[in-house]
Amino acid sequence: MPGLLEDKTLLATGAASGIGRAVALVAAREGARVVVSDVAAEGGEETVRLVEEAGGEAAFVKADVSRAEEVESLVDAAVETYGRLHCAVNNAGIEGVLAPLAEYPDEVWDRVLAVNLTGVYRCMKSEIPRMLENGGGVIVNVASILGLVGFANAPAYTAAKHGVVGLTKVAALENSARGVRVNAVCPGFIETPMVMERGVEAGAHPEVMAQISALHPIGHMGRSEEIAEATVWLCSDASSFVTGQALAADGGYVAQ
Ligand code: NAP
Repeated sequence: MPGLLEDKTLLATGAASGIGRAVALVAAREGARVVVSDVAAEGGEETVRLVEEAGGEAAFVKADVSRAEEVESLVDAAVETYGRLHCAVNNAGIEGVLAPLAEYPDEVWDRVLAVNLTGVYRCMKSEIPRMLENGGGVIVNVASILGLVGFANAPAYTAAKHGVVGLTKVAALENSARGVRVNAVCPGFIETPMVMERGVEAGAHPEVMAQISALHPIGHMGRSEEIAEATVWLCSDASSFVTGQALAADGGYVAQ
C-alpha cells in the first residue's frame, strides 16, 4: 500500500529534536523525501541518519528561522535538492522562560516572538511562492494548546502561538483556492527536551510531571510521534478538505 506522502518532498524545521524529528521519521515512513532543518547541526544530521536507517531519504540543511536570508536559502535548497516542495512543517520553536508578564525579560520576549511567530511568518513567506509556482502544496504550522488558551507565566510563548494560529488562518484564506492548504497543529504537553529537560523540567521533578499529566483529561502527556502522526495526516491528501484549522492534539486539554 502506498504511503500517505509517497513521492512528496517535506521540509521540517526544528527537526533535530522532539516533535520535528518525529515528523521527519513518520513522513519518511509514509514515503516522503525529507529536508531536515534546524540550528542544531549535530541533531539534524542524527535525524537524517535515523531516517536513512529506517530506509528513508533525507538531507540536512542548517537554518535559523529567525533569519530571513537563511530561511530563503533553506527553501531554495529544499527545491534544489528534491526538485519541488510539496509539504512544509514549520515547527522550530523555543520555550522562553516562565515569568509573569509584568516581570518578563524584554530580551526573552523579543527572541520568543522572533523564533516562534516571525520565524513561522518568514517560513511561509518563502514557502508559499515556491509551492504556488509548482502546482500547490500543504503547510502545517506547529502551534500549541497555548495558541488556543492562555497559560499563566508564559506570556511570550502564549502570544506567539496565538499569533501562529491567526497567521495560519490568514495564509489559508489567501492560498487555499490557489492550491496551498494551511493548517496548524496544537499539541498539549509532549515529552520532548523542551518540557522534560527545560521549561517546567518535568523529567527532573516527578511532582511536576504528575501535575502536567493531570492537566490532560487523557491522563498523561503526549509523545512526539502522536503529534507527528496528526501532522503527517494534515500534510497528506487524506485531509484534502481541511484548511485554516488549528487541530488540537492534546489529550483533551482544551475540551475542558
Ligand atoms: P525541542 O525538542 O526543543 O525541539 C525544537 C528544535 O528547534 C530544537 O532542535 C531547537 O534547537 C530548534 N530551534 C530552536 N530555535 C531555532 C531556530 N531559531 N531556528 C531553527 N531551529 C531552531 O522542542 P519540541 O518540544 O519538539 O518543540 C517543537 C515545536 O512544538 C515548537 O514549536 C514548540 O513550541 C511546539 N510545542 C511543543 C510542545 C511540547 O510540550 N513539547 C507543546 C506544544 C507545542 P536547539 O535545541 O539548539 O535550540
